[in-house]
Amino acid sequence: MKTRDDYLQNKPLIIAGPCSISSREQITKIAEEVSRLGATVLRAQLWKPRTNPDSFQGVGEEGLVWVKDIKEAVDIDIAMEVTSPSQVDLVHETADILWVGARNMQNFELLKSISDKRHPVILKNGLVANIKEWVGAAKYIGIDRVLFCERGIRTAVNSMRFTLDLNSMIAIQKDYNLPVLVDPSHTAGRRDAVSELALAGVAAGADGLVIETHYNPDEEKVDKDQTIDLDEFKRIVDKARVVYREIYKD
Ligand code: PEP
Ligand code: MN
Repeated sequence: MKTRDDYLQNKPLIIAGPCSISSREQITKIAEEVSRLGATVLRAQLWKPRTNPDSFQGVGEEGLVWVKDIKEAVDIDIAMEVTSPSQVDLVHETADILWVGARNMQNFELLKSISDKRHPVILKNGLVANIKEWVGAAKYIGIDRVLFCERGIRTAVNSMRFTLDLNSMIAIQKDYNLPVLVDPSHTAGRRDAVSELALAGVAAGADGLVIETHYNPDEEKVDKDQTIDLDEFKRIVDKARVVYREIYKD
């Protein structure tokens, strides 16, 4: 199994895929395309923590076999969000990276249930969590396995869905020497701002990007307004590599 540091060998780490898996065809096609365009890890989300119970909740366990087949057929690793300890048991053999979403950042029973696994873990910041709380949550998992992911915070300013908190990213990197990814999709909430926020993150030193991507974003069941298409994904990946190389490669 790859370690967190294996994933950071080739920066910026690019993670992409739909907000949620909706069918075998959808996730297989997206896996093939984003892999071809430079993603090394797929967003493969079977369960979605949604604000409203009547919103689409994800395909659930049914989609696990689709993801297993992708693992065999496509050159891409699998990151899977878990929202309960029982889901950890279900997916830990399939997932290369486990994932805890913003709303579960302080779900301590969930964090503890991941602590005895060996996977790297993406840990998103809670909507109003401070750094001590975010790092504390990571300690429940095992801090040397965590990839922090800055996904935007709630502020008094609501020009977009959330506000990208690069201050926290930089503080975690400098004060704790820990890796931080940027999720420009959730902080933007709109397709036309994903590129700028992604590149700002990389320029400021993000270790990688997590980007919601779909071959036809309007078909996406969840978060379609912020989901970019493959052409835009390619432009962002190409530019992010140039920015990273210019600033950080010696
Ligand atoms: C997501 O990644 O689709 C998601 C729901 O993000 P967050 O947990 O940051 O809200
Ligand atoms: Mn989403």
